Amino acid sequence: RSARASGEKAKSYVPSMGQIFLRRFQLVTQFRQSLEDGQVSVHYQPKVALPRREVLGVEALVRWVHPEFGRLAPDEFVPAVEAAGLVDVLTDFVLDKALARIRKWLDQGLRIGVAVNLSVRSLNNEHFPDQVQASLERYGVPAELLTLELGESVVMADPARALPVLRALHTLGVVLAVDDFGTGYSSLAYLRQLPVDEVKIDKSFVFGMGSDLGDLAVVRSIVELGHSLGLVVVAEGVEEDAARDQLAEMGCDVAQGYLISRPLSEERLEAWLQARTTRARGLRDETVLTL
Ligand code: C2E
Ligand code: MG
Ligand code: MG
Ligand code: MG
Repeated sequence: RSARASGEKAKSYVPSMGQIFLRRFQLVTQFRQSLEDGQVSVHYQPKVALPRREVLGVEALVRWVHPEFGRLAPDEFVPAVEAAGLVDVLTDFVLDKALARIRKWLDQGLRIGVAVNLSVRSLNNEHFPDQVQASLERYGVPAELLTLELGESVVMADPARALPVLRALHTLGVVLAVDDFGTGYSSLAYLRQLPVDEVKIDKSFVFGMGSDLGDLAVVRSIVELGHSLGLVVVAEGVEEDAARDQLAEMGCDVAQGYLISRPLSEERLEAWLQARTTRARGLRDETVLTL
């Protein structure tokens, strides 16, 4: 099966500019209410350590089931919400769900981290680190269980403005990750100047690494240079055993992708974790969950 073909499929018609504009307008005006109405939820995709596949944490991914349009991909509505200046509302919502989730796990004796995706706007908000700290305190969650993921472009957009906010977040002890690495213009040398802990290889390279030597070379060099900079290297879009094995062989630290699990609702994630805890029990410490 072609890994590249497994993504969301294109629509069978091409909407007009007017239709696109109208729909975006509706999404943006309805967004706040949709949070209150429970149309928006957070799904979680597991991240596992290589090579043994212990569950390290999950990435929080927002989902919107719209009464008229049905399931909306975040790639459609997040940019619209950002453009409308409403992304802080989204970030607050997801962060709150994520911290509540970590708290529940801590109460069950599990140390599982959650990664939350940030928008560039959060890094332009000088109060953001204080807000994060207050939320961590409210839930009694240690900062190191929270990862904040920043798109490459997020950091590149306005480094002078983003840097003090990044430093303050880093001082709190929150884990900072650069998402979709390799797709933008930043180099690993540039990463060295940022207070980041983790780099996530963009899934397009991971999809291609089995068949394209160029993609394989990109993945390999991100793993090697990432490690030489002391970063944890995460591969996204791991869909096949072969890719996972190859990544493990290269020394890539963490894998995330449909092979391990698709993003799951909170209930389905609980069941997924439960199955793994049961299997791991008796073998080692209960907090170590193995696939
Ligand atoms: P991302 O942060 O790079 O998240 C990974 C995306 O890759 C997710 O898409 C996930 O479902 C998908 N994915 C993971 N493994 C595989 C795989 O093996 N194969 C394939 N084909 N796809 C895989 P999703 O959930 O549609 O999210 C898309 C993007 O939307 C995210 O990319 C992120 O940039 C943004 N996003 C999602 N949730 C939030 C949020 O709460 N806030 C913000 N600001 N952005 C968000
Ligand atoms: Mg992400
Ligand atoms: Mg990504
Ligand atoms: Mg992305």
